[in-house]
Amino acid sequence: MKTEGEQNWRGIGISTGIAIGPAYVIDQTGLVVPEYAIPAAQVEKELKRFQAALAKTQRQISQLRQKAESLPSGAGDISLLLEAYKGMLTGSRLVRGVEEMIEKSRLNAEAAIQREISALKASFAAMDDAYLAARASDVGEVGMRLIRNLLQQQYNPFAEAPEGSVIIAEEITPADTALMNPEHVAGFATLLGGAESHAAIMARDLALPAAAGVAGLVQGVTAGDMVIVDGSKGDVIVRPKEATLQLYRQELARLQREAKRLKGLKNVPSVTPDGTAITLQANLELPREAEAAIKSGAAGIGLLRTEFMFMNRPDLPDEDEQFDILRKLVQQLDGRPVTIRTLDVGGEKLATALGDALGESANPALGLRAIRLGLKEPKLLETQLAAILRVAAYGPVRILIPMVSSVSQMKQVREHLVQVERRLQRRRAKLPPSLPPLGAMIEIPGAAMAADALARVCDFFAIGSNDLTQYTLAIDRGDDRVADLYEPFHPAVLRLIQFTAAAAWRANIPVSLCGEMAGDPQATALLLGLGLRELSMAPTRLPAVKNEITQISILRAVAFAEHVMNQSDEGEIRLLLQKGVAATEESLEKRRRP
Ligand code: PEP
Ligand code: MG
Repeated sequence: MKTEGEQNWRGIGISTGIAIGPAYVIDQTGLVVPEYAIPAAQVEKELKRFQAALAKTQRQISQLRQKAESLPSGAGDISLLLEAYKGMLTGSRLVRGVEEMIEKSRLNAEAAIQREISALKASFAAMDDAYLAARASDVGEVGMRLIRNLLQQQYNPFAEAPEGSVIIAEEITPADTALMNPEHVAGFATLLGGAESHAAIMARDLALPAAAGVAGLVQGVTAGDMVIVDGSKGDVIVRPKEATLQLYRQELARLQREAKRLKGLKNVPSVTPDGTAITLQANLELPREAEAAIKSGAAGIGLLRTEFMFMNRPDLPDEDEQFDILRKLVQQLDGRPVTIRTLDVGGEKLATALGDALGESANPALGLRAIRLGLKEPKLLETQLAAILRVAAYGPVRILIPMVSSVSQMKQVREHLVQVERRLQRRRAKLPPSLPPLGAMIEIPGAAMAADALARVCDFFAIGSNDLTQYTLAIDRGDDRVADLYEPFHPAVLRLIQFTAAAAWRANIPVSLCGEMAGDPQATALLLGLGLRELSMAPTRLPAVKNEITQISILRAVAFAEHVMNQSDEGEIRLLLQKGVAATEESLEKRRRP
C-alpha cells in the first residue's frame, strides 16, 4: 500500500526525543531454519508445539487486523489479506502438509513448514498466473511467521540499516532493542507494543526516541522514506513537507540545548533545599550503558536487569561467564554500589535452553517467571547467586529478587544463598567477608500489602512501580490496546507505594523505587512526599530529576503528597503533577484566603 505525500499517524510515545531519518523497514524475514529428526516418542510433543505456534500466529494476525481497522481510513484490503492469512492456519494444505511431515517423516516443525512452503510456492509458480504468484508470497509470509513463533526469537534485523535510520517494524522485542546501537540508529516506531514493555524501557535507557502502537505502519512506509518520530507524543510523520521538517528540526535543536543544560547538573549534589540527601541511581539493561550512568552522576546502579546475559542465544550462560561480565561491570563502577537483580523472565522464553521441561503458560505474566522459575529450577538460581557472590568480593553489591510474593520465597532464596556460599568456600573461591544484602522487588500488590512481614526477612526493598501498576490494575503493560488504562498514578498504586515505604521505615531497612516513575520529574515531589529517599532510573532521566530535588524541600513535598493522596481520581492526580508543587500551593493559598 504505497501512498504519496505527508502522512501523520499517532501511536504511544514510549521514549522521548525526536528522530529524523530515512525509514529502514524490517520485513521480518531471513530466518535461519534449523532441521533435525524427531524421535518416534517425541512426535506427539512436536505436533503440540506446532499447534501452539499456530494458535499464537492466529492471535498475532487478529491483533494486526484490529490495528488496521482502527485506522481512520479503515483497513480496506489489508483486512481481507489478514483474513486470508488466518484461513491458511486452519485445516489448510499448509497445516495438513506440515502435520503429515512431522508424523511420517519425523521432521521438526520448522523444517517441515519450510519444505511445505517451498512445495506450495513451486506449484503456484507452475500455474504461471499473477494472482497465484501473489498467493505464493502470502503463504511464505504466514509460514515465516509460524517459524519465528516456533523459534521464539527474531533475527538481528538492524545490522544492515544505514546510519541515521529510523527503524519501522511490526514489533520490536527487548532482545531486538539490545541489538540497536544508538550511534547508528536514530529511533524506531512499531505497529504493536505498549509504553511500559521492556523494549520501551530499553529504548529509554539507550536514549532512542521511539513510538509504539502506531496504526498505519508498516504497509504505509517504504524503505528510504523520510520519517519523523516524536517519542514524547507518539507521532510518526512519513514523507513530511519541508515546513514540517523545519519545525521538527527546530524542536530537536531545542531538546539538545536543554539536555546540555541539564548535563551541567552532574556535579551538583542531590540534596533538597532543606538539606535532605536523595540517592539517585541508574537502572541498567546492558553493561554498555554503565559509562552513561557514571557520566550522568549516578551514585550507583539501583537496578541491574540481568536478562541481557540470556538474550539472543540458544543456551544458558554458566557461572564463570556470568561472573566475568558482572565483575567487569562492578569494577567499572569503581566502588559505587551495584544492585544485581536475578533473572526476571518466564519459563516459555527459556524453554529451549532448559530442555523444554517448563512449557508454555496461558498467562505468562502470571506464570512461571522470575523467582518462581528460579525456585523451581534451583540450578538456574544457584548459578546466578554463585556468580554474584563471587563478584561481591570486587565491590559493594546487593542481590535483588524479582516478583517476590511471599515471605517463604525470601527464606528459600536465603537458604540457597547460604548453601552456595558454603559450596564456594569449599572450592576456596574468593568471597566477600559477609553475605551481600538480599532484597525483594515489591512489584506484586500482595507483596506490598505484606510489606511489614517481608521487611523482617529482607535487607532492603526496591519498589517496581511498572509491574505494581500492571498487577494492581490488571493491565498488560505491553499491550497498546489497553495502554490508556495503564496509569502508574492511580490512587491504588500510590497507596501501595506509600504503604511499602512506610513499612520499610518502620523496619529500618532501605527502600528505593526503580520503576519508570522514578525517572519522571513530574513524580519527584510526590515520591519524596511519600517517604522515598532513593530513586533509580534510566541514566538519561537523572539530571531532570535532580533538577527537581534541588528545588523542593521535604516539608513542601510532604504537603503536596498529602494533597495528591486526597484525590480520588487518577485524572485529577495527573493534572496536579503537571501543574507542579508551586502552582498547586498557590491555588490552595488562594482558596484559603477569604
Ligand atoms: C518494575 O516492574 O517496576 C521494574 C523495575 O522491573 P521491570 O520493569 O524489569 O519488570
Ligand atoms: Mg518488574
